[in-house]
Amino acid sequence: MSTFEALGLDARLIQATDALGFETPTPIQEKAIPVLLGGQKDFVGLAQTGTGKTAAFSLPLLHLLEVEKRYPQALVVCPTRELCLQIVNEIEQFKKFIPGMHVTAVYGGASIGLQIKDLRKGVQIVVATPGRLIDLIERKAIDLQNIHYVVLDEADEMLNMGFRDDIEFILQNTPNRQSSWLFSATMPDAVRQVSKRYMKEPVEVTVGKKNT
Ligand code: ADP
Ligand code: MG
Repeated sequence: MSTFEALGLDARLIQATDALGFETPTPIQEKAIPVLLGGQKDFVGLAQTGTGKTAAFSLPLLHLLEVEKRYPQALVVCPTRELCLQIVNEIEQFKKFIPGMHVTAVYGGASIGLQIKDLRKGVQIVVATPGRLIDLIERKAIDLQNIHYVVLDEADEMLNMGFRDDIEFILQNTPNRQSSWLFSATMPDAVRQVSKRYMKEPVEVTVGKKNT
């Protein structure tokens, strides 16, 4: 069994996992974090719900992002407002010991004006649902030029919900993306196709697969 230290994370992130009472990394965290910390590799992580996928991508993002630069560097795309809020909440906990790191959520059914205001304050991480993100892109209210990392969380859900074109639009509009990280509970054809089309030789990790 590994430790968060052994995975190579910044000391301030270890401090945060300690404060949260996380004793050991989950299997997906143990496999994903060392790959993602390199910052260069595309990644596909398949693991069931409740296996700690949020920390598997959030901790590497917080390790990699440049806190002194106040523009969006990472985009996390997920299917629902509830999930956006959960992810932001978890990132808030992990970034507690990194002053100057900021994250905001953008999702539908809430004031776009307020979200634009939050974006203007200067954030390194944006957590978004596809529809609202596209609205912001079309209004030129979000700067994607420095997005180096794109995370697709619950990719199977997003594609099931009909967000295929939106996801592709987002991937096409992040011209300086260095790596894409896709997390999903399952790997249906639609997810496979998006990964084939937009990812370069991704490292693929599956955990918790039952031997039936
Ligand atoms: P998933 O996205 O895979 O469904 P989550 O990232 O939402 O799972 O994690 C599920 C729960 O497990 C959350 O409450 C989270 O805080 C907790 N958790 C994640 N990693 C660890 C860990 N290494 N040790 C203890 N609890 C953890
Ligand atoms: Mg999740």
